[in-house]
Amino acid sequence: MFEWFAGAVASANAAKDISQSLMTLRDGEMIRSRVFDLTQNLMDLQQQLMTAQMEQMQLVDKISKLEQQNAQLQKQADLDGRYELHQFETGAFCYRLKPELQNDQPEHFLCSKCFERGIRSTMHQSKGSYHATLGCPECKQVIDYEPRKPRPRIRTVSRRIADY
Ligand SMILES: [Zn+2]
Repeated sequence: MFEWFAGAVASANAAKDISQSLMTLRDGEMIRSRVFDLTQNLMDLQQQLMTAQMEQMQLVDKISKLEQQNAQLQKQADLDGRYELHQFETGAFCYRLKPELQNDQPEHFLCSKCFERGIRSTMHQSKGSYHATLGCPECKQVIDYEPRKPRPRIRTVSRRIADY
């Protein structure tokens, strides 16, 4: 990335040497030739300075993007640090707000699958007569947070049409 630097130093040194040699020259043709060399060196130097400026702009842009990314990651880490892994008695996992940070927020659970991918997805509760589940609106994962109740057995009686 910094190849321009060696070139710029060489061009600047050559320009300095040519300028010094011009002081001692008396021959007009020789002076024109050295002035041409000097001009060429100054143009090279200008080109290298433009390259340096472009690289500097790219670096400033890259630093700005990295700073934004760092701030975003820090914000994410701060939020993630507010939650802890929780296991229901069914064995299913989710993330929940640490009790000391609960304050007046309603109890809620975050999908563990999404959380570990950096997505905070609040799970939605569904409770029926025989099941109690939490579903993730993001990845559609459904977990039982209470053991399922056994359904009552329904007897099916088959009758022959002839019985009627
Ligand atoms: Zn999910």
